Amino acid sequence: MSKGMVRVQEPSEEMMQKIIRARIAISTQKQRFLLCPYCKHKAVAVFEDTRGHVEAKCSKCGRTTAFDVLSMRRLRLNRRYRIIEK
Ligand SMILES: [Zn+2]
Repeated sequence: MSKGMVRVQEPSEEMMQKIIRARIAISTQKQRFLLCPYCKHKAVAVFEDTRGHVEAKCSKCGRTTAFDVLSMRRLRLNRRYRIIEK
């Protein structure tokens, strides 16, 4: 886990307000996870109002993947249905 020193500093007052507002905004939304295509680890959490693309580095295998949030969501659903049919 040790990759050298990470400099951590408290966010500015303005940024703290944004963080608090974001927490409030997601508190009423469902959270989903986009799974890393390589190791199936939960690579990134998305919310109901997440649109477009996100890029995330998997904390487990370290690979960086760009996700199209909406289409990858559908992909997961299809896969689940296929598993049920078998
Ligand atoms: Zn991974």
